[in-house]
Amino acid sequence: MRRLDPLTRDRVAKAVRLIDPDDVIRLARRLVQIPSISGHEGHAIVALMAEWLRAAGIDAVVQDLDPDRANIYARIAGNEPGPKLLLNGHLDTVPADGMSIDPFAGAFDGHRLSGRGAVDMKSALAAQMAALKAIRQSGVPFDGELWFGSEVGEEGGGWRLDALLPPGPIDCDLAVVGEPTELQLCFGCRGGLHFVLETTGVTTHSGMAERGVNAILAAARCIPIIYELPCLNERDPVWGRCAVNVQDIRGGGLVDRSVPDHCVATFDVRLNPGTSVERARIELDAALENARAADPTLRVAWRLIAPAKDAVSIDPSHPFVLDALDAIECVTASPPRLGGFPGGCSAIELIRRGVPTVIYGPGSVAQAHSSNEWVDTDQVITAAAGYVAIALASMRARREPPEP
Ligand SMILES: [Zn+2]
Repeated sequence: MRRLDPLTRDRVAKAVRLIDPDDVIRLARRLVQIPSISGHEGHAIVALMAEWLRAAGIDAVVQDLDPDRANIYARIAGNEPGPKLLLNGHLDTVPADGMSIDPFAGAFDGHRLSGRGAVDMKSALAAQMAALKAIRQSGVPFDGELWFGSEVGEEGGGWRLDALLPPGPIDCDLAVVGEPTELQLCFGCRGGLHFVLETTGVTTHSGMAERGVNAILAAARCIPIIYELPCLNERDPVWGRCAVNVQDIRGGGLVDRSVPDHCVATFDVRLNPGTSVERARIELDAALENARAADPTLRVAWRLIAPAKDAVSIDPSHPFVLDALDAIECVTASPPRLGGFPGGCSAIELIRRGVPTVIYGPGSVAQAHSSNEWVDTDQVITAAAGYVAIALASMRARREPPEP
């Protein structure tokens, strides 16, 4: 069912025509060329973003946090009071060590932009900024407030989205997070459990290994137990199974040629909306208790190494989701797939605060954090049009502005 009236569709088309693909890609490249590693973002990136937005006639404010980093936000006011929509993305990236390409060259071959942050998520920031510019320059009417807010630290360097949201400057009641979804419209994101599993053994001379308790072997036996927890194996129709990843294992003893008495395995588990942190904790405790009961020599414990987070989602039939679906179809000629974001993102914080939020952005999570990170730039241009359309659809003007 078409939700958007012909007038709104015309306004979307008028604003989208003002998106200049070369301008968007040039901006995305410049953002990639400025390192902004999480926790060490520096000021250069927000200075560039502020300068670009101001040149487009948009008030942008740099929000200083620490001596060496800052968030940025901007706002365009509509004709009349109405919904307040936030376009959001983090401006930090994961580190660039060990990349197989030059992380900060901003290499572009006509179809792919490569470099650290290309997909996660500087291209989305460029697309969101381009959407603000196109709406501003088109002069098409809308009711409400269109916000852009980009924050530091999302990738583990001290996340400061909180500084933008109330009591900070951005008071929004709808949001789009531009994490890479390959232009799927996602109505929620996974939560997470980041923890270590620690086994303790009994060290002995290797020649009498049978008298010791090998901590590495104990960890190896416990790892599959995590993968087999029932709550992590239920199939969600949108998200599939929860994602389980043992990402690191370190073990050994203090002395060479001896049975190791210590092993630590680190897990990154991503939880679907149907699997709460509480339930995962209970099942994990029970499974390890069973393992201890079956093997009295087993000494194993687990502990969180980051705050655990429940998944969040909104009703896929929420009017904002339906407007966004129709809006995107109006610029791409086919409706986007509806899905669930496989990782965590700002939507966790926004939805927790009661702000209906969708996730929609260019490129794939598969390339995020990778050694040859890249983004399909055609998707970046489409995303810019999608952001324009979502904004004008969810804040559609009830009447024409008075003649100047
Ligand atoms: Zn990200």
